[in-house]
This record gives sequence, C-alpha cells and structure tokens, in this order.
Amino acid sequence: MSKAGILTLEEQCAHKGMRMTEQRRVIAQVIEQAIDHPDVEELYRRASAVDPRISLSTVYRTLNLFEESGLVTKHDFKDGRARFELIPDEHHDHLIDIRSGTVIEFRNEEIEAIQDLIAKRLGYRLVDHRLELYAVPLKAEEADR
Ligand SMILES: [Zn+2]
Repeated sequence: MSKAGILTLEEQCAHKGMRMTEQRRVIAQVIEQAIDHPDVEELYRRASAVDPRISLSTVYRTLNLFEESGLVTKHDFKDGRARFELIPDEHHDHLIDIRSGTVIEFRNEEIEAIQDLIAKRLGYRLVDHRLELYAVPLKAEEADR
C-alpha cells in the first residue's frame, strides 16, 4: 500500500546512499504506486511496461536491495510467491482470501493489545509481529453446501 509519508521511496533510497539508476527509479515508482501486494513477476510486468529494457533479474536484485535497506517488506502468503509492499507508516495485518488470492489489510486494536499482553506475560516487550488470516468468503461456503 503506498504511503502518504514525506519522502518518496526514491528519495529514501537516495538518503540511504543508494545509487539510483533510471531502472531502479522506475521500479521504486512501480512499488510505490501499487495498492495491492504484487509479486516479483507482477512488478516486472508493471516496470517493463514503463521501460522495456528492465529485466526480471533487475527487478529481483532491486527488490532485494530495497528489502535489505529496510524500505520494502516481503510477505509469504503461502501461495509460493513472495509479495512486496512498502514498509507502512502504520502497522497493519493481512487477511488472505485463499480462493481469489485477494489480500485485505486490517488493523485491530484488541489484537494489538492482546499480543502485547502475551509477550509481557512471557517476560518480553513486543517490538514487531506478523499476523496472517487465511480465509474463504462466507458466501462461497454457503454456495458449496
Ligand atoms: Zn499490506
């Protein structure tokens, strides 16, 4: 999900001292514009539509670079494809529709609070977490019956 922060991904890369080639710039813009959670192939399709000289391996390398620099996060939604998104300004979790592959973002304060509590009871201060819900639409379940 694109972020409404002050700096663009391209600017953040520059701040980290990354050499921004024209191709990296295009890939950064494509990630930033994504409102879904695209995989490498999809990002490649979008980037090469802007600049046909961009190769799949360039997209791979650039994504790894962005990830190592802490600007992009990788998700495994158990469909065998790594998905990417910008590190969001505000934390969110994901619900994955296993029928359609649709990824829905949500944030629930009760879940956030209970996770803090669990960590605390175990003697820890929670610093991060990931939560993925895998689900089928209720309507589709009814249709199966
Ligand atoms: Zn997300």
